[in-house]
Amino acid sequence: MDASHMGQDLEKVLYTEQQIQDRLAELGEQIWKDYEGKDLLLVGVLKGAILVMADLMRTFPGSVPMDWMAISSYGSGTKSSGVVRILMDLREDITNKHVLIVEDIIDSGLTLNWIRSNLLSRGPASLEICTLLRKPDAAKVEIDCKYVGFDIPNEFVVGYGLDFDEKYRNLRDVGTLAPHVYS
Ligand code: 5GP
Ligand code: MG
Ligand code: MG
Repeated sequence: MDASHMGQDLEKVLYTEQQIQDRLAELGEQIWKDYEGKDLLLVGVLKGAILVMADLMRTFPGSVPMDWMAISSYGSGTKSSGVVRILMDLREDITNKHVLIVEDIIDSGLTLNWIRSNLLSRGPASLEICTLLRKPDAAKVEIDCKYVGFDIPNEFVVGYGLDFDEKYRNLRDVGTLAPHVYS
């Protein structure tokens, strides 16, 4: 789905598919260098990270395994509370592996903070985070994120895997929604 298929629902495009691809290629090159000779495992968080994972992993000039987990976070309304439940756990044992979490977006950071300490308790050789988007002004906890695609304003975005009520994940670009969509 392109921005032209969004009708009046899209307010503006923040990053085009091409800009996202270019940035992921840069991050991929850096990640590939940083993990040279190491047993790297990419861990994606469903569902938002599916497209970041698909495009990031294809920038690598060699094979890298991936695994997935699905979580639900409890919160009042739309805000995450940091109280998280695992809906689907990893299949891989991550003990002694170099784990890179692949995420779509860091908002308050509460969800990722929980995932991070959960995975750390399993004894990985190292644990780092790669996120396509980050909202610095929304941070409630400090998250040490080594690879960041773009820092964005504190606005709700959709597209490229990110949904509003399970819609717009298949929009190729990342953009903001028009106010009438929320009401
Ligand atoms: P956090 O715990 O960092 O506040 O929230 C993380 C999760 O909330 C993300 O993985 C994502 O699913 C959702 N989220 C946070 N900000 C946005 C946003 O701007 N757009 C969309 N579609 N989801 C968001
Ligand atoms: Mg996510
Ligand atoms: Mg969502």
